[in-house]
Amino acid sequence: MAKRPLVMRTVSSLRRTLAPWRKRGQSIALVPTMGALHAGHLKLVSDAKRRADRVVVSIFVNPAQFAPHEDFGSYPRTFDADIKALGEAKVDLVWAPTATAMYPGGFATRIAPQGAALAGLEDKFRPHFFGGVATVVAKLFLQVQPDFAMFGQKDYQQFCVVTQMAKDLDLPVKVIGIPTVREKDGLALSSRNAYLSEAERRAAPELARVLKVSASRIKAGEPIEMVLEEGAVEIARAGFSLDYLEARHAVTLAPVASPKDGPIRLLVAARIGKTRLIDNMPV
Ligand code: AMP
Repeated sequence: MAKRPLVMRTVSSLRRTLAPWRKRGQSIALVPTMGALHAGHLKLVSDAKRRADRVVVSIFVNPAQFAPHEDFGSYPRTFDADIKALGEAKVDLVWAPTATAMYPGGFATRIAPQGAALAGLEDKFRPHFFGGVATVVAKLFLQVQPDFAMFGQKDYQQFCVVTQMAKDLDLPVKVIGIPTVREKDGLALSSRNAYLSEAERRAAPELARVLKVSASRIKAGEPIEMVLEEGAVEIARAGFSLDYLEARHAVTLAPVASPKDGPIRLLVAARIGKTRLIDNMPV
């Protein structure tokens, strides 16, 4: 039977567990998650295991990155199954702080990321989001002090924001971006896919299909604006309400007019029923 990972709930117990590992010179990789684990998270874990001697997975549904009208209360929580999967993946430690361990009474500091965090993508629709993410990720980095931190490119703007934050604050951690794990039909794995009805699930791969077709058309030299306009129509036809479908510089997330402007990333966010899905692909 797989060994159950250690589960720590307070900063002091976490530090007590990590100290001897660090003393022995063992490298540590952190995989931050909000739980409801799927094969995408587990890919981050397996890549972490390849890079470091010890793997820490954090599970924390961070209230600071949800607006009051968003799905904090209903976000899927599958702690026991998560622990079992992490045991099978031979994870050493699960850092699952309580909300009060993370935000004790009187907590009064917040990181305000700029640059990629103000690109006019997710931030336009979730203005509170990156401040909440940057603050909790900075705390996770200081709590665990990992050598490596694994982030999914599925949340591409988040990956850019966290990479920049670590650089700007001289945090001694290497942020690694892991390509998106997808279902056979192209749908990016996401904990929020659990919200989809059967009909919505059938429509959902349209986002990835449009991204893929648009990327190859842009690569072939077709005008970006026209390709994206047609893509937006197809996404709407599949039953989505589109928040954005954009071509951006892959590092700065600045708008791009042509492939000459640098490496391009296509990013999409759209709502179907009560579910909001995001995805992205390189050109
Ligand atoms: P979450 O629990 O949704 O906050 O995600 C935790 C981490 O897993 C983030 O770095 C995500 O980008 C990453 N992740 C989520 N879905 C996928 C996926 N389909 N493929 C790769 N990484 C993912």
